[in-house]
Amino acid sequence: MKDDTIITHSGRHPFENHGVVNPPVYHASTILFPTMDEYVNRGDTARIRYGRRGTPTTFALEDALTELEGGPAKGTAIVPSGLAAITMSLMAFVQTGDHILITDNTYGPTRSFSTGKLSQLGIEAEFYDPAIGAGIEKLIRPNTRLIWLESPGSQTFEMQDVRAIAEVAKSKSIVTMIDNTWSGGYYFKPLSHGIDISVQAGTKYIVAHSDVMLGSITCNEATFDQVYASAQSFGACSGPDDIYLALRGLRTMGVRMPRHHESGLKIARWLQERPEVIRVMHPGLPQDPSHELWKRDFTGASGLFGFVVESDNPLKAAAMMDGLKFFGMGSSWGGFESLLIPASPEKNRTATDWNPGGFTMRIHVGLEDADDLIADLDAGFERYNQAG
Ligand SMILES: *Cc1c(COP(=O)(O)O)cnc(C)c1O
Repeated sequence: MKDDTIITHSGRHPFENHGVVNPPVYHASTILFPTMDEYVNRGDTARIRYGRRGTPTTFALEDALTELEGGPAKGTAIVPSGLAAITMSLMAFVQTGDHILITDNTYGPTRSFSTGKLSQLGIEAEFYDPAIGAGIEKLIRPNTRLIWLESPGSQTFEMQDVRAIAEVAKSKSIVTMIDNTWSGGYYFKPLSHGIDISVQAGTKYIVAHSDVMLGSITCNEATFDQVYASAQSFGACSGPDDIYLALRGLRTMGVRMPRHHESGLKIARWLQERPEVIRVMHPGLPQDPSHELWKRDFTGASGLFGFVVESDNPLKAAAMMDGLKFFGMGSSWGGFESLLIPASPEKNRTATDWNPGGFTMRIHVGLEDADDLIADLDAGFERYNQAG
């Protein structure tokens, strides 16, 4: 099955439910067993045995995302947010005394969790240059437990050589995990490139309507049982209505992502031509230093990227952003709407520098008409030029 068919059909079993197209929303804590014998003898092995362990609503999304992430995926754990997916994945493997490697352009809260909570537990997080590739081998110590990747990385969008890193890790029996939120699991299949665990903020392109927080952890055979048991032991479970909305969002991913891809690239090219813009960070652009890796591994681009305007005067940036008609200003992304926010990548780096000159912005290109968005940005640059 191709992705668009998986997205449409996976996790659905209409004839187990009166022919109803979508999985029912099971609200459940207690699950009853008819006899003591079944409670005692089947209670421990049944997939449905207690609300926290999931219901057919949960399993529908788990199964659909396992199929979408593809390759050698064994199963998926659904957790209440993208950040919970990140922390649950890390906590499944680390112990006091471990050393872990994290890409320097990772999502800010991934860094904070590692330098905060993990450090308190006696786990040392070392940040590495996202462009390190096979050079990661030099950073590996006898106690290195796992390698965390994110490609393209948050705010600055450098791609990683995922295969090279996965190969080194595999040769040393080190677990690899990637934040795959940017691709939605639609444009990149990390497990097929040798990664053990693919994490997504379902909040973004799976839910896609800016109304639910959710996370997913998709694992290969070697890691699934450990991750699932660990997430369960923390009590991580998600509400059935949120899961239902994620399933509903997922069904249209196959038409949404190509629109994000096309409009995103159109606007990235337009920004490249603007005299006010000194840099555009979008791996789908041939001029981008990450373009070759993106072309090798990805089948498309989502709608999130960055750019730098030449003036570092925040009043000019504010003049641009404050009057926009279609671009909202707020955290998160992956919804149908476009967003534009100021970014501060330099605050989230320790192993590499971010010094492009000027002022960095992060843009999410939504599903609006791309020419309307361009006109909105054009008027924004006019305000930018008149301000300051
Ligand atoms: C938003 C985001 C997350 C966290 O997801 P939440 O659902 O907001 O907790 C993780 N990784 C990346 C790259 C993100 O952009």
